[in-house]
Amino acid sequence: MFRFPALPGLAVCLLISGGSAHTGTPIPDARIAKPSRQFGLPLQGNPGPDTWLLGQLYGNTTSAYRQRATTYRNGQGLHFGLDFSAPCGTPVVAIGDGVVAEVDGPHGSPPHNLVINHAGNLSSLYGHLLERSPLKVGQRVKRGQVIGKTGDSQLTCVSAPHLHLEIRDHSHQRLFNPVGYIDADWAALSLIGGFGRGYQVDLTRPRRWQTLEDQPSVRLRQPLLNDYAQPWPPAPGGNR
Ligand SMILES: [Zn+2]
Repeated sequence: MFRFPALPGLAVCLLISGGSAHTGTPIPDARIAKPSRQFGLPLQGNPGPDTWLLGQLYGNTTSAYRQRATTYRNGQGLHFGLDFSAPCGTPVVAIGDGVVAEVDGPHGSPPHNLVINHAGNLSSLYGHLLERSPLKVGQRVKRGQVIGKTGDSQLTCVSAPHLHLEIRDHSHQRLFNPVGYIDADWAALSLIGGFGRGYQVDLTRPRRWQTLEDQPSVRLRQPLLNDYAQPWPPAPGGNR
């Protein structure tokens, strides 16, 4: 029987690199589709303790803050995806119609990942997949089509089983908060879940980036957005 792990958020989303230098020509903002709930959830059925739950949120999470100089350095110190806790082997579905762009490409989130290109210069990345997706680059997929199985960022299937979902632009230079793009009852989904639920507070601007919706987009390999002089909660050991 599967049980959700009771690990602290610090440990659970390791091995996300944010990608290598495999990026394309920048795409102007005006050519990137704005969030209009045009996509669906990447997992089927209803959430619950035996199916899947919302895990670490996108953005300025305390978990990401504490790893801002390491795991999340390439993503300006933010958790640049949305995690869904699920037992290993849970089917993952495409969030929208599109074309498979990469199977086990260079964008991190091992052991396996998949990228689908969608309309509006948007791409979805499905990370920490259990095994290599059987899909081929160039293959068309429909929204809701099974494209892989969930795995575990720590490769154990007991310590941190989850899907890491990103919404990027086609050039892989910017990453967006998936919440506005995905049609779901986020208020209900965020009532319960796994790990990393808190947001890091900058005491000089305490209301900024504290909700599911209010989170900044990320540019890969740019300066940290959250290197706070007055952070809350303080880091273990008292250092920033
Ligand atoms: Zn993640």
